Amino acid sequence: MITDILDLGEKTSLSGQVVVVGSGIAGSEVAIHLSRNGREVILLESGRGPFDPSIQALNNVNFTGKPHRKLDPDADYHRFLPPELRGTSRLRQFGGTSNIWTGKWKYLEPSQFGGRDWIPNSDWPIDFDDLLPYYNSAAKDYGFGDLQAESMRPEIKEFRSKLAEHGLRLSSFYWEEKPTRTAIRFGEEMRHSENLHVVLGASATELRLDDSRQRVKAVVCRSLEGKEITVEGDEIILAMGALETARLLLSSDRQIPGGIGNAHDLVGRFYTDHLKHHTGKLWPGQLSQKYAREMQFKQKPRFCVCFSIDEATQREQKLLEHALYLKPLYEKSMEIVPGRPTAQDNYGLVVAYRVNLAFEHVPHKESRLTLGTERDTLGQRKLDVNWCFTEQDRESLPKIVEILTRRVEESGLGTIEFGSELPNIENMTDAAHQMGTTRMASRPEDGVVNTNCCVFGTDNLYVAGSAIFPTGPSYSPTFTILALARRLGQHLLQKTPTKVVQLSK
Ligand SMILES: Cc1cc2nc3c(=O)[nH]c(=O)nc-3n(C[C@H](O)[C@H](O)[C@H](O)COP(=O)(O)OP(=O)(O)OC[C@H]3O[C@@H](n4cnc5c(N)ncnc54)[C@H](O)[C@@H]3O)c2cc1C
Repeated sequence: MITDILDLGEKTSLSGQVVVVGSGIAGSEVAIHLSRNGREVILLESGRGPFDPSIQALNNVNFTGKPHRKLDPDADYHRFLPPELRGTSRLRQFGGTSNIWTGKWKYLEPSQFGGRDWIPNSDWPIDFDDLLPYYNSAAKDYGFGDLQAESMRPEIKEFRSKLAEHGLRLSSFYWEEKPTRTAIRFGEEMRHSENLHVVLGASATELRLDDSRQRVKAVVCRSLEGKEITVEGDEIILAMGALETARLLLSSDRQIPGGIGNAHDLVGRFYTDHLKHHTGKLWPGQLSQKYAREMQFKQKPRFCVCFSIDEATQREQKLLEHALYLKPLYEKSMEIVPGRPTAQDNYGLVVAYRVNLAFEHVPHKESRLTLGTERDTLGQRKLDVNWCFTEQDRESLPKIVEILTRRVEESGLGTIEFGSELPNIENMTDAAHQMGTTRMASRPEDGVVNTNCCVFGTDNLYVAGSAIFPTGPSYSPTFTILALARRLGQHLLQKTPTKVVQLSK
């Protein structure tokens, strides 16, 4: 069932086997998986059905390093969103950020797990094979189509090998026609479920430990109207996004100074996102003319391609991961430039491609979130966000731009023009992909959660979402968020007994 915290009347406590905080893709996925398998689940969500700016304001932070992009009704990006949401990087609403995302799904490449010895802290303590069954089952359930089969399609194989001759890598992603909105995908099921109770308007403000200080006994939640409830569970999952998850751990510092899971002062550190450049153009060359149909964006749902420098060069030149996305600009929206070649795809004459370039940056300790002195309307300390970069980022970025631009030209894909300024850290924005603040590691000295996503030093507290990513090499993090959430759901099924005999679905 779905209720609002205000519907609970005099009631001030709830309990279930599993308590999940956050109803985005990560939280909904794990809550649904457990409830479908007979576990009693309570899903706590700060937001409500309709978007509420005063609840959204609970996400406000203070930037002490590079700021995120600003809300800007006239922004060039996010044109698909209502003007008041353009530039928003995360949402406090039932269904979370899935309410506004664009629905591109991509695997992490197997080579991106093992650790790249030229990038400090780039090791994942799990590998591609650990996630593959969950990637595959998610792709099947969500109807993404078979990314592996797509990569073997003759046209794609041929295109890939032509690019490889010039040291470029082509990879594919799946772009949904209608992006998954979890409140829509699971809303009806949640409403009618007997063993999944969604509580809206319930902002988690504190985790309470039992006397052992190793088990979270309860999650304290408050609403903007002043209602407070305590929610007990055997297992607790935080799926509030990388910023709010770290914030709750840090602010739960009454029983353990410094917060929960923070014995090694790692909660909130290693904060990464992708740097994104929006304003370049590519003038088509003969390779884009030949493969224009593989490069078209319409018609969704479909597979799309993106480009990067090959792995051998990345290793040799100590480069960071990156992705070049090309969006066709048709004759209808752009004048043909005399003397410039055009390309023909199934939707028209392509005059140029808009260049979107995204970069990973080095995960490092000083890029971090801390609790500031300002408070939100619930009295919670706001985050200070120091998003910052290393010398390696500053060296790698111009090298990537130079090599990529040259190879794109040499391969015949076309000529890239960035305008008056080449992409650099200052002129790029974040990509709304917050990651790394409770990174996964094999040892508590290196991270906040273990390979089962359980917070070190606790027996029953878990994190779902990109907060646990040690690195962010794939420009589309959400497929990996989903796969990890499924894997966590499976782990918790083994840990918790079935209580509900009659399943709602
Ligand atoms: C415009 C845009 C486009 C994007 N496009 C893509 C794309 O094409 N491909 C891709 O891979 N990624 C994309 N992303 C990123 C993607 O949306 C996120 O990676 C993904 O939605 C994160 O899911 P999540 O469940 O981890 O977090 P969220 O969806 O952010 O969910 C967190 C939930 O926790 C709730 N919450 C927060 N604090 C509390 C609290 N204290 N108490 C209770 N509840 C709380 C929030 O209200 C929210 O519902 C895009 C993002 C944006 C903004």
